[in-house]
Amino acid sequence: MIVKQIWTGNAFRNFNYLIACADTGQALAIDPLDYKKCLSVAKENGWTITQILNTHEHRDHTGGNRAMIAATGAKLLAHQNAKDSIADIDIGLAAGDVVNVGKTVELLVLDTPGHTMTHVCLLSQTDEPALFSGDTLFNAGAGNCHNGGHPQELYHTFATQLSRLQDNTRIYPGHDYIGNNLEFTLAREPDNEQAKTLLNQVKKQDPAKALVSTLAMEKHINTFFRLQNPTIIAKLQRQFPDMDEDPSPEQVFLKLRELRNKW
Ligand SMILES: [Zn+2]
Ligand SMILES: [Zn+2]
Repeated sequence: MIVKQIWTGNAFRNFNYLIACADTGQALAIDPLDYKKCLSVAKENGWTITQILNTHEHRDHTGGNRAMIAATGAKLLAHQNAKDSIADIDIGLAAGDVVNVGKTVELLVLDTPGHTMTHVCLLSQTDEPALFSGDTLFNAGAGNCHNGGHPQELYHTFATQLSRLQDNTRIYPGHDYIGNNLEFTLAREPDNEQAKTLLNQVKKQDPAKALVSTLAMEKHINTFFRLQNPTIIAKLQRQFPDMDEDPSPEQVFLKLRELRNKW
């Protein structure tokens, strides 16, 4: 499996992706908003884009569909319940489906509600695990729930799906928000030395050559995976005296999500 992370350089800081089969040169484009960049990367590498996958229905993920389909004739894949919110879906996806790219790439579909209620993530099956996480999981952060999402659902997705993936899973999110997210982690957990070190490192990074984290790393630097951390809990309890003495991971997650909205 060949993965190209494509930095759009737009105001929303979107990442687009091409996933290609080394044997056949067939490629899947994930959320190809910047279809021109995606097409030129495919051309440079001699790949044929045969499929487009939208992780969810937001315009900064679907906005390149029409032009990409016109240029390539690729089939469009998205959550099976997104037919009213995404035009021209050819294949509706459900949890457990497998998306094949050429002969060598198999991607498992995860149904991951929370950021929106029709959001899928893809998990590679054939190589070192890699998760294409759209706006559900960001480097050092979690998606917001402002536009059609539900924080409880997002918690459930984190607790029952994402946190159970293998530690060596590489994380490929839909946006470059790592700097801001690490600042939030440090605001909630000022003694997180790993987050401090990483923040210094990514401040200088070119998003076109962005660091790719792993789930193991996220568990150290992403506050939304650190729901039992004593510093985080104590700080929340000082700020919200009505919080339980021994809050559940869900309560902690929801408070953090709420704070991040206004942060
Ligand atoms: Zn979104
Ligand atoms: Zn987005």
